[in-house]
Amino acid sequence: MRDWLSQRVAASPDDAALVRAEDGEAWTYTDLDRLVSETAGRLVAQGVEAGDRLGVLTPPYVGTVGLVHAAMRIGATFVPLGQELTPRELSERIERAELSALVCAEPTEDDALAAVDGIGDTPVFSVDDPADPTVTAVHDAEPSPVDPPEWERDDHLCVLFTSGTTGEPKPVPLTAGNVYSSAVASAFRLGVDPGDRWLVSLSLHHMGGLAPVYRSALYGTTLVLRGGFDPGGTADDIDTYDVTGVSLVPTMLKRMLDSRGTLSDTLRVVLLGGAPASDELLERCRDYSVPVYPTYGMTESASQIATATPRQTRDRIGTVGRPLFGTEVTVVDEDGTPVEAGESGEIVVDGPTVTPGYLERRPEGGGEASPELDRSSFGPHGLHTGDVGRVDEDGYLFVLNRLDDRIITGGENVEPGEVADVLREFPAIEEVAVVGLDDETWGERVAALLAVEDPAEAALDEAALASFTRERLTGFKLPKTVALADELPRTVSGTVDREAVREALRDRGHDLGGPD
Ligand code: ATP
Ligand code: MG
Repeated sequence: MRDWLSQRVAASPDDAALVRAEDGEAWTYTDLDRLVSETAGRLVAQGVEAGDRLGVLTPPYVGTVGLVHAAMRIGATFVPLGQELTPRELSERIERAELSALVCAEPTEDDALAAVDGIGDTPVFSVDDPADPTVTAVHDAEPSPVDPPEWERDDHLCVLFTSGTTGEPKPVPLTAGNVYSSAVASAFRLGVDPGDRWLVSLSLHHMGGLAPVYRSALYGTTLVLRGGFDPGGTADDIDTYDVTGVSLVPTMLKRMLDSRGTLSDTLRVVLLGGAPASDELLERCRDYSVPVYPTYGMTESASQIATATPRQTRDRIGTVGRPLFGTEVTVVDEDGTPVEAGESGEIVVDGPTVTPGYLERRPEGGGEASPELDRSSFGPHGLHTGDVGRVDEDGYLFVLNRLDDRIITGGENVEPGEVADVLREFPAIEEVAVVGLDDETWGERVAALLAVEDPAEAALDEAALASFTRERLTGFKLPKTVALADELPRTVSGTVDREAVREALRDRGHDLGGPD
């Protein structure tokens, strides 16, 4: 296939491709194509060629969208890097991904230079006027003609780094086939309307932000770009630009609702993923008619694996829906054997959206990394996600927690997500985090931090809670230690900070009572 923007501009040249939320300026597909062909031509004149890995460290602005398509037009693999990274983290990634060149902008020039310092000869380009003489301005070169190559399904369209929640971030190549299949399967689940306008306020170096850039060009719909997130401003953008779709993580949606009460009724889809959504948040969406589609996905599957519709969300609390068309989910036990419906185990995913494998490391002592991909996380049923979940009798997926968070007490496995689900049903409890604490007798014991409206008021009847849990969970799963808080500690990215939860429980935890 040819690069998608070339095909799109041939099909619908006058349709709106892009709107910049800050000032409302709009680009048609013809305008965007002109920008992309110029950028691609200049990069080619500077020596960038098909097969290169092009690192991009620019703010989320229109030029960055241009670079996404320019890389594809040239035949280069797009490797977005996060602006919040330290020079050290950046240089590790530049090395890990074996970049051929790095493109920065005025605000990121110093970071880019500090990052490439000492790792040899990665050339640095700037889309602005560089301050440093070793950086080349992209616009210094006259554009060369670009002969867009054919893309094969297996060619690496982009390389993205995982978030690094469970260890070092891993470089994930996604093929043109992966991203295309994901766009198709997503459209089968969410539908596409020719008038769709999708707001991007997630960063473009994660799949949640980047997927809509590729998808809007494939669908011929409009991308509304906001260079950053602020709860009220993002909610207002939806209203101002008649936005029909937006991807958010739960903390963003919560803050937007806190700030504006509800969201514009132009919205057709709020794709909510990246972390579990609390029942409370989903109830608010239902009460305020926010069309929420909870989704489970990961970098390695080019985003969505399963997605629930608003109706399914109402009928089955906590589900992320059925797997997308073409995606297969298998839940397996520790031996890798599929479990019965309803039982929990590791989620394994297979299908056309799943990466062919992680990039290999360079050998110790230098030299090129092996062109073979690291497939050590793959088994007979596909990629082992490291997440624990269950699929019910009707094929609906529930994500419980990460495998790493599993508690082992007296030799028995406890999934904290299962215990949390029960605790959350108890009146007065708003949010829950369940962790294992070291225990001399049992190895670990189940402990729960309970967020309640006002922890000082002792609003929680603990005796009632103890019998409530005893009716619903077998003995070894019962929380032994609890503490109250007004909210759960969270990391900057909005996920629950499990180490801080453990600390709070060690400091302030007390016995819930019940059988030992
Ligand atoms: P790393 O792989 O480096 O440890 P990461 O897994 O956080 O980092 P991402 O690919 O950005 O990197 O995130 C995917 C993960 O996010 C999933 O594997 C899952 O743990 C979590 N996740 C995504 N959606 C949901 C959801 N709806 N409910 C619960 N967890 C989710
Ligand atoms: Mg992961």
